[in-house]
Formats: sequence, C-alpha cells, structure tokens
Amino acid sequence: MTDASPIRAQLPGTPRSLVDACQDELIAGLMDYVSQPAVSATGEGFPAATDRALEEVKRAGLTPTVLVGDGRPLVVGHRAGPAGAPHVLIYGHYDVQPTGPRELWDSDPFAPVVRDGRIWGRGTGDNKGQHYAHLQALRLFDEHAGALPCSVTVVLDGEEEIGSPSLAGILRAHPERFDCDLVVWSDRSVHESGEWCVSHGVRGMLRLGLRATGAGRPLHSGNFGNVAPNPAWQLVQALACLKDAGGRVLVEGFEDGREPLSDTDRAAFTALPLDLPQVLGDIGLTEMDPAFNGLSFYERLADRPTLTINGITTGDVDRTIIPDTAEAGIDIRLTAGQDPQTVFERVAAHLRTHAPEVTVTKKGGVPASRTPIDNPYTPRVARAISRVSGRDPLLIPAYGGTLPDWIFTGILGVPSIGLPLANADQANHAPNENLRVDYFLDATAICMELLLELGD
Ligand SMILES: [Zn+2]
Repeated sequence: MTDASPIRAQLPGTPRSLVDACQDELIAGLMDYVSQPAVSATGEGFPAATDRALEEVKRAGLTPTVLVGDGRPLVVGHRAGPAGAPHVLIYGHYDVQPTGPRELWDSDPFAPVVRDGRIWGRGTGDNKGQHYAHLQALRLFDEHAGALPCSVTVVLDGEEEIGSPSLAGILRAHPERFDCDLVVWSDRSVHESGEWCVSHGVRGMLRLGLRATGAGRPLHSGNFGNVAPNPAWQLVQALACLKDAGGRVLVEGFEDGREPLSDTDRAAFTALPLDLPQVLGDIGLTEMDPAFNGLSFYERLADRPTLTINGITTGDVDRTIIPDTAEAGIDIRLTAGQDPQTVFERVAAHLRTHAPEVTVTKKGGVPASRTPIDNPYTPRVARAISRVSGRDPLLIPAYGGTLPDWIFTGILGVPSIGLPLANADQANHAPNENLRVDYFLDATAICMELLLELGD
C-alpha cells in the first residue's frame, strides 16, 4: 500500500495533475532562470548566477547555504523530512557551457523561447531544466503539503562544466552539509530511444602528456639529418610500445583492480535497445574495432579500460625539417576498481623502460564510480518513473563517459543513482540547446513521485 504515505494523502491531487495545473508557470519560471547567463569557463553572468541559483533554492522551501572553495560557489539547500525517512542528496549544476558562435543559434541563447514544443536556450537541458524540475517538485510539496516526504539536500555545482575542481575539497571541508543516504544526480539525457532510464556508474579518466625534445630549434633535414636526433621518431616509438599490432595494451597490470560487470549488470545491458548497424552507420563505420572482437558493444564501453591517443603535435608536413619537439596527448578511461594514480605509475614505468627519452606527465585523474544495480533505491526510482510514464525505465549499469560521481560513492560512500531528465537530442554544449516541454513537465512529476517513493 504505497499510497498510505501521509504526504501523498495531503496533496490535493496526483503529482501529474498538480504539475499540469501549473504548467504555464513552470515553463515561464524555467525560461526566466535560463535567461541568467552562468558560464563558468568565462565568468559571464557571475556572481549574479550564484545569487539566482540561491534564490531558486529558497523558493523551493529549502534553507540555503553558499559554500565557497577556490572557484565558483556551490549552492546548497536543505530541508528535513519526517524522522526515519531517507535523506536524498540531489545533485545538479547551475553553470552552463559557453554559447559558441551566436550566429549558429536560431534564437538568443540567453533569451529563451518556446518553439515546436521545446524551450530553446543555453542551459535548458544541461542542466538548469533538470534541477529546476527537482526544485519545482519541492516547491509543490511546500505549497500543497507544507512538508516533504523525506529529507532533501540539493547541491548545485557552479563548476561542473569546467570539471568540478572544487567539489571534492568543499565536500571534505563540510562533510555535515552532505550527510545523506543516497545521491540522485540528474544530468545527461534519457536513452536515445526516448525511454526514461536509471543509471548506476561512469568510467573514470586519466590524462597523460608525452613529450620528446631534440635540438634547440627545428633544423634543415639535409644539413643535420643523421646528426641531430628526431623527437618525432622517439615519440612514435614510445606510443608504439604501449600496444601490440593487434591493439592489446602491453603495460603490465594495466587492467589490475578492474571489477568486472556482475551477471545482473550483463542482463541489464542485454535488455537495452541497441541498433548497432545504425550506431556504426552514424559514425561512418561498418564494424567495431577488431582489437576487442568477442566483446559486446556495452562491454567495450563499461567493462574495459581504454588507451586512446588523442592527438600528436610535431614538425610541419610541408617543410623538410627535423622537428625540435614532439608531443602527444593520451586519455585512459578507467573502469570501476581502477585507481588513476596506480595506472599512471604503471604506464610511466613502462615508458621509462621502453622509451626513456620521452617524458610523461599526468594531466589529471578521476576515478570511475559504480553503484550496484541491485541496491535498495533503484526499484523506488524506477517506480517513480513508471507512475508518471506508465512504463518501466531502462536500467543502465554504467556509462562509457566520465562524471565526478566518485565523489559521492568514494568520499560519501553512498549509492549514487543517475536520473537523466532531458531529451536525447537536447544539443547540450552545442548551438540550439533545447528541452522538450513534455519531458520537463513529466520530469517535474517524476521528481515529486521520487520523493514520495523514498518517503513511503
Ligand atoms: Zn554539460
């Protein structure tokens, strides 16, 4: 009898009906919020952007706090629920990506408009629309019930789009502000099929720089060929020593610590819709990298680390010179259980042995994160979605990409569940970013149902 929730009984309607009754107000409110620029990379819109996020947290009935690290402030809001009810921390971010060239936008990125059933503007999907749905769900509880079904802390990051450099430090400095039983983050998009989904992890990332140096300046290849060493050869040989011709990584212990997918994870991946020929066709390919033959699409993305040459810079393809320097960028996507520092030390040791003339620097490392798919909260999140959509969501064990999710699972030590609320074609980071109005309204109702499910 989940409907026995006292708060549910106090509401003058279902979450769906309450959201529908105030939809014009919700859409207008989001458009106004999006009109405040908040570009963390350039500072456009700051510090007003922080004040505005704080204002939204207050309007949602939460007690607001601003926590400042070295960069853009973190906005936090808290409200206690009934004793014994779980405490959920909802994570989103109020900063946005730069707009890019304005002429590529069909309307002003900071003067949002509604067109073709979508709200267009920078930050509509990534991420203001998503955390605004949570904030409006909280406001509706405040307005109609004067209380929340469970305890809630909302954390709005001001630096997500530049890699959240202050988040872990702020969290360690103020642990009492982040006390919770679980984290729900709403970012990214629903599944490409349009289905709602619940996600449970991300890969980590380690970035490396390789550099070889030769003479003090670029040299004439005739006057100095065979006299001056060539750093471009040193670099390509260093890169070549990392993998064999079949694409297998040669660094000893490269996959050590990796926690393989569970049978539950594999079953969940198998249940996801996938049109592989179409996915490959979209990127101009007909088959996947043969180096990983025998592994499925999702195993490649979630169960194995990568080692990717991102780019190589050296010399000049149109001049007969011996370059003076050669550089390469490498990223390694890590799976759950792998420690970025340990992997860095192994790769550096391998290069010291096989390519001692090349220097290696670590340019940053973020661990992976994984919450078991059979944790006690996923069924409640799934039920909240199906109460609004009428369909069970897709359960995604882990994404191939990277988010600072380890901060929650690693530092707070709690389950962290992804509840993406934006349409898959939201064009986040690109021109003409948008949020479908139907997704936004459903999302607000789902956020209300989520708190009710957690409180039941
Ligand atoms: Zn983003």
